[in-house]
Amino acid sequence: MQIFKVGGAVRDRLLGIPVTDVDRVVVGATTEQMVAQGFRPVGADFPVFLHPKTGEEYALARTERKSGRGYGGFTFHASPDVTLEEDLIRRDLTINAMAEDDQQNLTDPYHGQRDLEARILRHVSPAFAEDPLRVLRVARFAARYASLGFTVAPETLELMRQLSESGELQALTAERSWKEISRALMEDQPQVFIQVLRDCGALKELMPEVDALFGVPQPEVHHPEIDTGLHTLSVLEQSALHKQPLTVRWACLLHDLGKGLTPEEEWPRHIAHEHTGLKLIKAVNERFKAPKDCQELALLVGKYHTHCHRALELKASTLLELLQSFDVYRRPQRFEEFIGACEMDARGRKGLEQRSYPQADYLRGAAQAAREVAVQPLLEKGFKGPELGEALKRERLKALKAYKDKASA
Ligand code: ATP
Ligand code: MG
Repeated sequence: MQIFKVGGAVRDRLLGIPVTDVDRVVVGATTEQMVAQGFRPVGADFPVFLHPKTGEEYALARTERKSGRGYGGFTFHASPDVTLEEDLIRRDLTINAMAEDDQQNLTDPYHGQRDLEARILRHVSPAFAEDPLRVLRVARFAARYASLGFTVAPETLELMRQLSESGELQALTAERSWKEISRALMEDQPQVFIQVLRDCGALKELMPEVDALFGVPQPEVHHPEIDTGLHTLSVLEQSALHKQPLTVRWACLLHDLGKGLTPEEEWPRHIAHEHTGLKLIKAVNERFKAPKDCQELALLVGKYHTHCHRALELKASTLLELLQSFDVYRRPQRFEEFIGACEMDARGRKGLEQRSYPQADYLRGAAQAAREVAVQPLLEKGFKGPELGEALKRERLKALKAYKDKASA
């Protein structure tokens, strides 16, 4: 049997960037031989094994054919007579379809190295269209390698457009989609992921609520970029520049969905978009089965981002309601993420990226003031049950009034 490194490990070594995980393909072996050598079979769908010592993945060379709708509709053929070239041709991009042996001798039948040098993401063969997930993968690689100058080949974008128009994207499972979306959002240029999906018509299929923001104007005084879709891309860009976690990036993507519902007569104003957007945010959350913390933050940011921007003008009682809604006493990190997302929203405006955002520290201080109200003296006064809760709220309100007075003095 022969063993080759494939995929990301070869690609990233040639690009001169750190290799994180190594995938290997095994040519000329059977499952029985692998097991006899101590490899542990793990693939539910394909013949994939883990190395007994390193735990790295080894897959038997295989060919694939589409036999029905969706990813379940795949049949594969793995046997010792499948060649390396046959295995490589079923892969998505030419830069992902190279292999090397342990002497770093390159096998590159589909000219991945040439495309690597030309900074092009190009599909390997028309079989690309057999798995709609590849549309998301290409967009993710575009986001990852945008800073190196990579772009999607026009003929690949065309295939992605045909795939999107065919309705096949609807057959993707939430789990497979979310895995790509969440990884793409964590790249350096997550806005490129959304832009590429939009360019090929996939955004309209996957997240019509986000697609609908393009072409929707906002008041130029607050939003020099005007277009709500462009604003959303900038907010995402800022979230990566500021190294925000996934929860924040997800919330950034969805924070303004309500603006897509504003009747044209009301443009460029978007009265109560925070409220109208909530059902859309919920729908997108559920469509991709986003993790609970992502779902929760997206809804809270959608509902309260304007409160954050107006933090310095809020009455003490409104501040208190905000802090209570976030349960800042038990969930300090979630509130911090909320502030982070709102700051990205403010910075995601053309020409205002560097403007300071005093609202952030102001809200942190308010949360601190409310948290510092001690329960013990109230217990000693004999408050309990719901009355204790009310007394606590009164004391917190007092503390917030004092905080506000001090801040404006
Ligand atoms: P990463 O650095 O993100 O791990 P990768 O290219 O190694 O990038 P993997 O998801 O680990 O990506 O997949 C390994 C290889 O398997 C890819 O390089 C590609 O050749 C192939 N591959 C993975 N998923 C698909 C797919 N859905 N369609 C076609 N080929 C795929
Ligand atoms: Mg990999």
